[in-house]
Amino acid sequence: MTVADQLTTIQATIEKSCEKVDRDPSEVKVIAVTKYVTPERALEAVQAGVHHLAENRMEGIEQKQSVITSENIAWHFIGTLQSRKAKHVVNRIQYLHSLDRLSLAEQIEKYRENVLDCFIQVNISGEESKHGLSESELLPFIDALKAYQKIRVIGLMTMAPHTDNEMLIRKVFQRLKQWQLRIRDLGYSHAPCQELSMGMSNDYALAIEEGATFVRIGTALVGNDK
Ligand SMILES: *Cc1c(COP(=O)(O)O)cnc(C)c1O
Repeated sequence: MTVADQLTTIQATIEKSCEKVDRDPSEVKVIAVTKYVTPERALEAVQAGVHHLAENRMEGIEQKQSVITSENIAWHFIGTLQSRKAKHVVNRIQYLHSLDRLSLAEQIEKYRENVLDCFIQVNISGEESKHGLSESELLPFIDALKAYQKIRVIGLMTMAPHTDNEMLIRKVFQRLKQWQLRIRDLGYSHAPCQELSMGMSNDYALAIEEGATFVRIGTALVGNDK
């Protein structure tokens, strides 16, 4: 299937999920995760109408941006951003999905030219293999970010556990949403926290039913060459 065909299928699923819970589909933005594919394949996603692209490595962003030069693309960084690589990345992106430590906030403060929209990555499932803050670390971390002028916490991000247990996956998404509302309601100007980055190829329909505003889709949209 072409990327355009896959996108059509995904959009139909998004509409169905939104309908179930009475949401407006325009609230859900599709991020094409292109980390497993060539720049040419990523370009197909752009030509099919995707406006958001995500990469998880500095080299991946540089490579894709040398081929995809449209001004209309918002670039997202997902996954661990090593502090020493941050300076090469922070001015190439519009969104960071993996803010989870103050040492990274320091790098953003130092190298970013203007305010960067960030998601705090939270490890709700508690799986060792997952990055992100534990729930107990979340509020103190948000408080500490007040001191950083270049960081705006626009929302929270999580990854669901790898399981077929739909209830378990939903619970993780529901908890993230509860934290998002709680932080939003604190009314901090540095942390409007109105967005939820959750849902990947296998679970984005569930994530949307639970309130996702950004879904990060790789395999199901552009495929996986690795
Ligand atoms: C790779 C990745 C995705 C996309 O995964 P797929 O299962 O291929 O859709 C989404 N989010 C993060 C953080 C990732 O690392």
